[in-house]
Amino acid sequence: MIRAKSQRLFEEARALIPGGVNSPVRAFKSVGGEPVFMASAAGATLTDVDGNVYVDFVGSWGPMIVGHAHPRVVEAIEQALSKGTSFGTPSEAESRLARMVIDRVPSIDLVRMVNSGTEATMSAVRLARGYTGRSKIIKFEGCYHGHGDSFLIKAGSGALTLGVPDSQGVPEAIANQTLVATFNDLHSIEAQFALFPEDIAAVIIEPIAGNMGCIPGEKAFLEGLQAICERMGALLIFDEVMTGFRVHPAGAQGLYGLEPDLSTFGKIIGGGLPVGAYGGRREIMEMIAPLGPVYQAGTLSGNPLAMAAGIATLELCDESLYTHLETLGADFETELKALNLPITINRAGSMFTLFMTARPVAGYADVAACDMAQFSSFFNFALDIGIYLPPSQYEAAFISGAHGAPELEKLLETVKAFFAG
Ligand SMILES: *Cc1c(COP(=O)(O)O)cnc(C)c1O
Repeated sequence: MIRAKSQRLFEEARALIPGGVNSPVRAFKSVGGEPVFMASAAGATLTDVDGNVYVDFVGSWGPMIVGHAHPRVVEAIEQALSKGTSFGTPSEAESRLARMVIDRVPSIDLVRMVNSGTEATMSAVRLARGYTGRSKIIKFEGCYHGHGDSFLIKAGSGALTLGVPDSQGVPEAIANQTLVATFNDLHSIEAQFALFPEDIAAVIIEPIAGNMGCIPGEKAFLEGLQAICERMGALLIFDEVMTGFRVHPAGAQGLYGLEPDLSTFGKIIGGGLPVGAYGGRREIMEMIAPLGPVYQAGTLSGNPLAMAAGIATLELCDESLYTHLETLGADFETELKALNLPITINRAGSMFTLFMTARPVAGYADVAACDMAQFSSFFNFALDIGIYLPPSQYEAAFISGAHGAPELEKLLETVKAFFAG
């Protein structure tokens, strides 16, 4: 596949933008090669600047659940556009989207719109700290909650160490407030609470992890986690920026039948425009300014174009869409497993990861043990025959409503061909 124009544009971008990208994972660093510059997207496909067409399994990292440039979403944005791009005042569309979230997610009484998933998680943690009067939080190794200072922490030397920043520029005083536990391991959570029983404001988790590849939380683990939080007076925050409206109309919490204290959203809620949101129980949410003492604001929060895209997307997320996505995903999983290849698939509805290992993958250590060199070869092999997969073993792939059996068949054939050598 010739990507001469992509290469030229990347060279130009590198002179202007750090690493040539506005978000690091786009740089393809973990798979080698150079990023592809896209010119347009429609339905299940991306078209690059050299005219190559790819079946897209990244979906802009999650938002594009109804496919790219869905006519109803485009029309909704166009209609909003002609009425002005930002008012800096309340507008009706904000309440419409808020009502859609509240109607779908039983744990949410009130919801606040922000501009990204990162803002949503940062704000939710501030709120949890304000509400509980405590300062520490617990996160899980391998879970990603955006690039806020408190979240760029994983286990230093084992799960019981205090947070050590993954990024320079995060002061130790902040990193120290983040404790790290092991996903799908209740003992590691008990141990942190035993060390700091009075200090933990919140536990934040991706109930179905998507940022170390797709790893669903075990039901007993998530239930146990909720019970511990309740007993210890800490809030449970489900980070549903990826899973929200993806795996179930009410997100992962709907799938598991759990009601966290706070939830965060992003990605799908903006339908491809920059939106995040956080919400939860009334008495907690009423702590936020202007009602309460926890400050959080945004010049462009609730932006009319973004609200229009979010509303149109959620309107399309009906039962028939979720059934379609589950059927496609389940059929693909069954057919892949029947091939008996040394590969493991983890899947939750329309999000999945192909792990380069024959072993089950239930946590971060299992992902880290995958054959990363083989993953890189597979990624580049697929790219060159027109399949656009996430460029890292630590990412989830997505199916959209615009995908059908032929797209999944093409992926299956690609896997087969790769392993046939
Ligand atoms: C993508 C993601 C975020 C960050 O959202 P941004 O919009 O990129 O800031 C936070 N949490 C989870 C679970 C995510 O998948």
